[in-house]
Amino acid sequence: MQSKLTFLGAARNVTGSRYLLETCDVKVLVDCGLYQERQFSGRNWGPFPIPPNTINSVLLTHAHVDHCGLLPKLVREGFRGKIYCTTATAEIAKIILLDAAHLQEEDAEFKKRRHEREGRKGPHLEIPLYTVADAKASLHLFSPVEYGKPVHICDGVEATFHNAGHVLGSSMIQVAFGQGNEKRTIIFSGDIGRFNGAILPDPNIFNKTDYVLVESTYGDRLHEDAASIDDNVAEIVNSTCKGRGNIIVPSFALQRAQEILYHLSNLLGQGRIPHLMVFLDSPMAASITEVFRHHCELLDHEADRQLCLSGALFDFPGLKIVQTIDESKALNNIVGTIMIIAGAGMCNGGRIKHHLVNNISRPESTILFTGYQAAGTLGRQIIDGATKVRILGQQYTVRAKIAQIHGFSAHADKDELFRWLSGLVVAPKRIFVTHGESEVAEKFGEFLKEKTGWEVSVPEYGEEVLLD
Ligand SMILES: [Zn+2]
Repeated sequence: MQSKLTFLGAARNVTGSRYLLETCDVKVLVDCGLYQERQFSGRNWGPFPIPPNTINSVLLTHAHVDHCGLLPKLVREGFRGKIYCTTATAEIAKIILLDAAHLQEEDAEFKKRRHEREGRKGPHLEIPLYTVADAKASLHLFSPVEYGKPVHICDGVEATFHNAGHVLGSSMIQVAFGQGNEKRTIIFSGDIGRFNGAILPDPNIFNKTDYVLVESTYGDRLHEDAASIDDNVAEIVNSTCKGRGNIIVPSFALQRAQEILYHLSNLLGQGRIPHLMVFLDSPMAASITEVFRHHCELLDHEADRQLCLSGALFDFPGLKIVQTIDESKALNNIVGTIMIIAGAGMCNGGRIKHHLVNNISRPESTILFTGYQAAGTLGRQIIDGATKVRILGQQYTVRAKIAQIHGFSAHADKDELFRWLSGLVVAPKRIFVTHGESEVAEKFGEFLKEKTGWEVSVPEYGEEVLLD
């Protein structure tokens, strides 16, 4: 039987990762992510392009919502197979999917009440995309795997998960399919991490494969060196402490929050910053940090693994976890410099908004950005230099210092993507550039063709390709 690959998401855009491999009479879905770009969000709500009950297995690269966020809907609509992923990914996905479902329920309820008040009906039904019960049902199907150990999917199909170095538990998945002379391999890159990153090992390198899907989020950009992060953080903390302001850090709950704690712990240990109170104001980030503590074996350096086992790697005197909203609000009353790490990472929701309200007009405070700020978000307005911003319905003048550290990115840049592909000593039959904005993916594809002479394409949404 001819094998076929269909691009059902993250094709000429960044989110909604979803690829279908049909081979040996089975259908294997790699990732089942939520679309986060506004113009594609309708695809979250529509029916799946193939009936979920005809899919045999799901292979999940990692726990970011744009890779796993539609699994509860897939299961509600009939999928009953196994969802294979690493143990750490399963543990983090549990936290992330339950939180996403909870937010979906809250949003639907909020919309319903608003429409009732306004006496109108919205264009869509006021129902959640999926519920907490749906998310729980999907968690029963998770089947944890180990890095490097081939998993038997069915006769003639085997999947092996390799470390991607992107976030804890993240994988690149190599699938071997077909029989005898017709045996082929395909690598799904998932999101590719940095080389020489702070905590996780470098992405796994492959020297041979027939097909590759390579992500291209930053296929047109070069990042700052991760080694500069300690210097940058120390400089910002020291200057803000001197001015007696606060340091407000919008952060993603997965990987970024833990990396910030890791750098603070290092700097304190080296005496490069003064002891200050640091509040991790995100119960989700705190739960994910616990998963890191259970998986010290996944860290890159022996010294870090030891510190992790002793509990010191993501902890230090002065660090407090904030659980309730009331505790969060009470932080406003503290006099003297404190650091608050809170979500959402792009300031488009969550507790960070309250802390911005209290600090954005104080010239002695610093708003420290550590992650990508998408167009249209409050975070993007602030780093673009807006002098006035609207937060929670009120206008505020921006007087705080605005700082940004670029070295934190969890994605490989253009050179690192090329370095990853350069491991291949034999030309693959074809490379598919995915998971990047259309122009970025095109540009990176052209660059690859020029450098290697390999067969490279940038697939469209819904495109089907026969794998011979
Ligand atoms: Zn990711």
